[in-house]
Amino acid sequence: MSDVPADPIAAVRAAFLQAADQAPDPDPDRELQRIEELRVRFLGKKGEVQALMRQLGRLDKADRPAFGQAVNRLKGEVSQRIEQLRADAERRAADAALEAGWLDPTLPAAAAGAAVSGLPAMGHPHPITRILDEVIDHFRGLGFAVASGPEIEDAWHNFDALNIPADHPARDVWDTFYTTRGEIPRTHTSSVQIRTMERQRPPIRIIAPGRCFRNETVDATHLAAFNQCEGLLIDRDITLGHLKATLEGWVHRLFGPDVRTRFRPAFYPFVEPGLDLDAQCFYCHGGGRLDDGAMCPVCRGKGWLEIIPCGMVHPNVLRNCGIDPDEWSGFAFGMGFDRLVMARYGIDDLRRLYSGRLDLVRQF
Ligand SMILES: [Zn+2]
Repeated sequence: MSDVPADPIAAVRAAFLQAADQAPDPDPDRELQRIEELRVRFLGKKGEVQALMRQLGRLDKADRPAFGQAVNRLKGEVSQRIEQLRADAERRAADAALEAGWLDPTLPAAAAGAAVSGLPAMGHPHPITRILDEVIDHFRGLGFAVASGPEIEDAWHNFDALNIPADHPARDVWDTFYTTRGEIPRTHTSSVQIRTMERQRPPIRIIAPGRCFRNETVDATHLAAFNQCEGLLIDRDITLGHLKATLEGWVHRLFGPDVRTRFRPAFYPFVEPGLDLDAQCFYCHGGGRLDDGAMCPVCRGKGWLEIIPCGMVHPNVLRNCGIDPDEWSGFAFGMGFDRLVMARYGIDDLRRLYSGRLDLVRQF
């Protein structure tokens, strides 16, 4: 004869129902905790339902199948009820959050990956936005204001005022887009220099980040629409020394304090002299080769990255804006944002940055 209580299954079932029927805790977190404790107490490895299963061995062989089935039915009933309690508690928590006003149900659902980590999905800025925020933060600290101008320009602001003559190849349709009305999707943010100098007397310190457009064949390092950031400083007695110190400070912020820089002469119609600022490749430390002898993929073996065209503002440009070049001088620079992002993060194909692929963006 079996020594099991008359109806142990009914006893466990009664105990479970008594606990489950209790009024829910008004605090959503405590209520979820209570439900979890209930689950462990009845369905856990050492729980009461499992204990019933262990009684099987002490039963007469003939009684075992019916008893086993009855325990399984109880197990199903308990799980279902616990799931129901949990769903009710979560709904009440969501209602409370909605009532409190901080939950916006129109926002997109958390990303699928969040379920794995158990954390809510968090967005973060795109690498280009991160660099943009850094540029603004750095130059604001030096007293530069953020200026902006229209993306569709006229020939005066995009070319003529910048000392780019009518026969300059940059004005050709092969390089520049024109609207049917002859307007120009700006080819550089330098047009914002002109607009600023036209309406503001020196001293001037601005940076002007924005989108630009060129009739480029799209490849790994060129896009028809890209991001640039212009910088302009006009004051009395400004020299190349000021330009050098200002830009070197920025490069060190971007790539680290030990990165070497060099200036090379270059020609741009709106500056005199014109320069290119190169930064030592942060990836191969200027050697052009990696430890295994392979060519550095970031600088393509050159050891240097050409990052900032710059120079002293051409007297003609100042005159075009009504500023006397005998009284005022200054420097200007233009940074291709996308290039900076590529250099900073070692991205070899610009198109990836705009691919909309979250698996890329999430790495930064
Ligand atoms: Zn390199």
